[in-house]
This record gives sequence, C-alpha cells and structure tokens, in this order.
Amino acid sequence: MAESNTKEKVSPERQKQLLRAIPKVDEFLAWVGSVPEVPKILIKNAVRETLAEQRQAILAGGVLNADNLTKEALLPKFRKRLDRKLAPNFQSLINATGVVVHTNLGRSLLPQAAMDWIVQVGSRYSNLEFDLKTGRRGSRYSLVEDLLCELTGAEAALVVNNNAAAVLLVLETLAAGREVIVSRGQLVEIGGSFRIPDVMAKSGAKLVEVGATNRTHLRDYEAAINEQTAMLLKVHASNFRIIGFTKEVSTEDMVKLGSRYGLSVMEDLGSGCFVDLSKYGLTGEPTVGEVIKAGIDVVTFSGDKMLGGPQAGIILGKKEIVDRVKKNPMNRALRIDKFTLAGLEAILRLYFDEETALSSIPTLAMLTAPYETVEKRAKKLLRRIKKGLASHCDVRLVPAESRVGGGALPEQSLASCAVALAPSDRSLNSLEKALRTANPPVIGRLEDDRMLLDIRTVADDEVPLLAQVLLGVFEAA
Ligand SMILES: *Cc1c(COP(=O)(O)O)cnc(C)c1O
Repeated sequence: MAESNTKEKVSPERQKQLLRAIPKVDEFLAWVGSVPEVPKILIKNAVRETLAEQRQAILAGGVLNADNLTKEALLPKFRKRLDRKLAPNFQSLINATGVVVHTNLGRSLLPQAAMDWIVQVGSRYSNLEFDLKTGRRGSRYSLVEDLLCELTGAEAALVVNNNAAAVLLVLETLAAGREVIVSRGQLVEIGGSFRIPDVMAKSGAKLVEVGATNRTHLRDYEAAINEQTAMLLKVHASNFRIIGFTKEVSTEDMVKLGSRYGLSVMEDLGSGCFVDLSKYGLTGEPTVGEVIKAGIDVVTFSGDKMLGGPQAGIILGKKEIVDRVKKNPMNRALRIDKFTLAGLEAILRLYFDEETALSSIPTLAMLTAPYETVEKRAKKLLRRIKKGLASHCDVRLVPAESRVGGGALPEQSLASCAVALAPSDRSLNSLEKALRTANPPVIGRLEDDRMLLDIRTVADDEVPLLAQVLLGVFEAA
C-alpha cells in the first residue's frame, strides 16, 4: 500500500491528477452492481464514503500513487465499510471482567421467565392501563405495586424510568423551593454525570450540606433544621467508602429526628437488595425491607443493580408521600415502559421464594456462586484451550477477586477464579484488542502483566463459545 503519513510535499498539480483519478460515484456504483439482500441506500452510502475518504486522504497529502485509486484497489475498503453498516450496533458479548453489575456492559441479565413475559406482553395487547375489573382506565403502576409492597412491607410503591429519575421526582415533589439536608460524606457522583448536588439543583430543592467529609452526627442535621427545611436525605455512598475515623447517622436515628420536627426522611439506596446476602460474605448492604422497617418515609433504588431486574427506578414508602409523588406531572415524563414493567413483574414474582430468587435471577446467582463452582467452570474452559494455546501463550488458573459493581459494596470482593493469559507472541494490549473486537467480543481485565478472564461472570453455556473465540484469536482453532 503506497499510502503514507510522511510529510512529503505533493505538488498541487499532482494532487489534481490524483483527485481526477478517483472513480466517479455513479461509475463505481454501476461497477459494484447490486449486492444480494443489501439495501441500495447502504451500498450507495458506502461507495460515497469510500470515495470521499480517498479525496480527503489526497488533500492531506496521503495518497501518492494512482494505482491505489482504481476500482479494484478500492473494492476491499468499500466492502469493509458495507460490512460495518450491516453489522448490528448492539451486540451481546462475554463479560469476563468479574464485575457482576457492570453498568457499561448492561448491568443485570434477565432470567428466561422475564424474557418470556416481555415477549408475550410486547407482541399482544395488554391491560397496561386498563382496569379489567371496572372496565375503566387503570394505572400502569398498579401492575407491580402490590408485589413491591408485599415483598418489602412498604405501604405504597411507584416505578419510573431509573433511579436517577426516582430521586429527581421525589425531590421535586417534596422539596422544590425548600431545603434538603444531606451529609457532606454522601454528596456522591455515581458516574454518567449523576451527582447528588446537580440532581438536587435540577429538582429546585436547595442543598444544605452538614457535617464533615468523614463524620456527620445527628446534631449536625438537627442544627441545620429551620422553617425552610423540607427533608432529610440519606444517600448510599455507592461506589466509594470513607474508612478510618468515620461516622454516619443511621436510618433509624434520622427517622426519629425527622418525626420530631415533622420532616420527611428519604433514602437513596442506590442498589436496593431484597435478600440479605451476608451469609454469602456480602455484608453492609441494608435490605430494602430493613430500610422500610426503620420507618423511612420514602426510599428509592435501581431495578437493574442488585435487584437483578430491568432498568427502573423504584420508589417505596408511606402512602401519603408516594401518592403525592404519583400526582406530580413530571412523573409522566419519567414513566416506565411496558416491557420494563413486564420484566419487573416477572422478577418480583421470583422473590417470593428466596431460594428461587437466588438460583434463577442471574445477578444473584453470580453474586452468591461459591468459589468451587467458578473454579469448576474455569477448569472446563482451561481444558478446551490449553493445548491449542500452548505455543502462543502461558495459560493458567489464578485466584481472582470479582466485584459486585453497580456502586454496591465497593470495598468487598468475591473470591473468584480466572483464566490468566500471558501471550508470548504478542503484546497484552494487542490481545486485549483482539478479544474486544472478536465475535462475540470478550471483555476481560489486565492485571499483573496478564489478561485475566474472571469466570464468575461467564455463564456455563458461554464456555464453549469463549474457548472458540480464544482459539480463533490465537489462530489455534
Ligand atoms: C446507581 C445510583 C443511582 C442512579 O441509579 P440509575 O438507576 O442508574 O439511574 C442513584 N443513586 C445512587 C446512590 C446509586 O448508586
């Protein structure tokens, strides 16, 4: 290929010559003809873009040889562009990062029961907003409200698009134009530009920070209360921990203080777990039921973090408060769609039996899988690839630490097992890229000069496919 990035000066005359050598769009199109099953518009656009790219390259002094501008020479570039247009943008991939609730990789995986229900509801008319008892207009929220209340002990429930929307909506309803007291240690940024102070500002509520970064006492909240105060807010510190000399006020104590002054108390729980996972080594995450029991007025959390359901923002609490939130017109703009409701209903029904929830909700199953289960799966993968990769790569099983992710339990890790790859025929970065751009893409993590594939987040039925990708990447298939 005679393209070059050297700053060799091309004369304007030569440039003109090269530009003239580029085939015309119509000429190239006619020469390519039709491609079976491919829409004409995509072919046309791929041709246009391929030729425009050459023009730009020439003007930038890049193409030095007219032989590279023939139709035959440009055909592979055109094909590559066309293939990219035809490939789906949304792709499923293999998560070998060991981060269970990985926001960038789609957070929670839905169990088959939920997917079946989504398909059913999505392809038929339904009682989404139609009360079959009365024959009148119904409320979409009623489809999950009773389930949420039964599972958590809350008086009332509402679901919206996501937890960020839930926080915004509750603040706007209860505190617009008034003050909300929050501990300095809880003014978190979740990522993806969700920052408590910014959301607060958008809601029209005025943030009053109290305490110090590491320590906030009940008396700090109390000292900040005045006639402008609407609410006390507790935010789950999600993705970080302040360790050492620290103090946070418990939900119970905040509730007591709130009721003494007639103020609502809200908790943004972030992840929101229904099951106590402390017997699986995951301690420190209060369950939603515990927060309700502590007497909180309103609590919000995500549907797709530790709950393991679809993206949603769940709002639970006292009936009088949730009813006010339901009436907020902003609710309409943040409303949940019918697919999400279907998925959520299916997930919630699985929670009535804890064992069923733990075994059938993928997020919970992955979080609670014992080391031995992960190791067994890792050994299966190792058996499939060891021979094929032997001359390219050191392959071995190593202990690894998986993470919950989704901003939950940031300081805790889960003992896991990873397949570690140390290639001898290429750099780690090129291996990372090859896996990331494979079909399906495989995302692992680089650690201690190895590529780690943490098997906790790889499903049993993905093992043969993962092996195939690895063998393919090393051309050892
Ligand atoms: C994740 C998180 C949010 C945002 O929830 P989304 O469902 O992603 O909108 C808000 N608050 C806390 C504390 C969180 O951890």
